[in-house]
Amino acid sequence: MTIVRIRKEKKYALVVDIGGTNTVVGLGNLKGKILKKNKIKTLPESGPDFLFLKIINVLKGFIKKFKLKKEDILFSSIGSPGPLDLKQGSIIHSVNLSGWEKFNLREPLEAAFKIPAFIENDANLAGLGESWLGAGKGKKMVLAFTLGTGVGGAVIIHDRIFNGSKGYGAELGHITIYPDGPLCTCSNHGCLEAYISAGGILRRVFENKKALSKSILNKFSIETLTPFKVSLAAQKGDKFAINILKETGRYLGIALASYTNIFNPDVIILGGGIMKDNKIVQNHAKKELRKRAFKIMSKDVKIALTKLGDNAPLIGAIKNGLNLYYGNL
Ligand SMILES: [Zn+2]
Repeated sequence: MTIVRIRKEKKYALVVDIGGTNTVVGLGNLKGKILKKNKIKTLPESGPDFLFLKIINVLKGFIKKFKLKKEDILFSSIGSPGPLDLKQGSIIHSVNLSGWEKFNLREPLEAAFKIPAFIENDANLAGLGESWLGAGKGKKMVLAFTLGTGVGGAVIIHDRIFNGSKGYGAELGHITIYPDGPLCTCSNHGCLEAYISAGGILRRVFENKKALSKSILNKFSIETLTPFKVSLAAQKGDKFAINILKETGRYLGIALASYTNIFNPDVIILGGGIMKDNKIVQNHAKKELRKRAFKIMSKDVKIALTKLGDNAPLIGAIKNGLNLYYGNL
């Protein structure tokens, strides 16, 4: 048997991170270095065909700029909001990309570049990127959360994505925190996401009218306020904003305690707008976790912030491509 060794810095991957608002298109080497990336508008209402035309154009531009030959590029790897039908290569359901179901996300890239294309849920890729080269580097059992429009979660074991029997699993944002809580986007009541997603945070702000009237957040409407502005107000010492973030950390910590008991993780990585320049959520999540989880596991689990930031899904896309490319040989 001949073992083929490739020089990973000399081979490349085309990577795409599709989001509801923006799509990031990149070129990286197989060591996980992103050499070039461009952000383009997703414009969901214009449909996936239009977006993929733009993606392919950007990628062709990168290939030309770096003077790459066909054999230099091993695969393309795409992240998309999900859940995804990994077999069909399509989106099953996405609030932000409605009407895109049935579209095969792999085909346009396979046809344009004649290389294998892989797809995976964007939150899983972000977690994988962090596990491979970011805040979870060298760790065996990594959990990752992205707090944004939704609450994305990932379970990464030995730098591989754990996503259940058909690939829909690891929806860590949809654990029930309170049985009769607010309706969640998944149609359950009282999910973690219903409390600590952007919408969940804003709902809690505007629900407490009395406290809001004494806060600097009072000048915003539900349309103009964002979790990041809540975070800024907290940094300025606004008591109400601080309490909202403490509560956010507490809800998160309740879920993290359960996940710690289930997975016994080495590290839990937190990312997303609300986590930027803000220790309140992180500290309160940690406090709650330590209070609730088995001591033998909670004493060792590290709570860290993302290291790779916006590049995490792209770097994760390279690693996922490597896992699947070599796994399929
Ligand atoms: Zn839910």
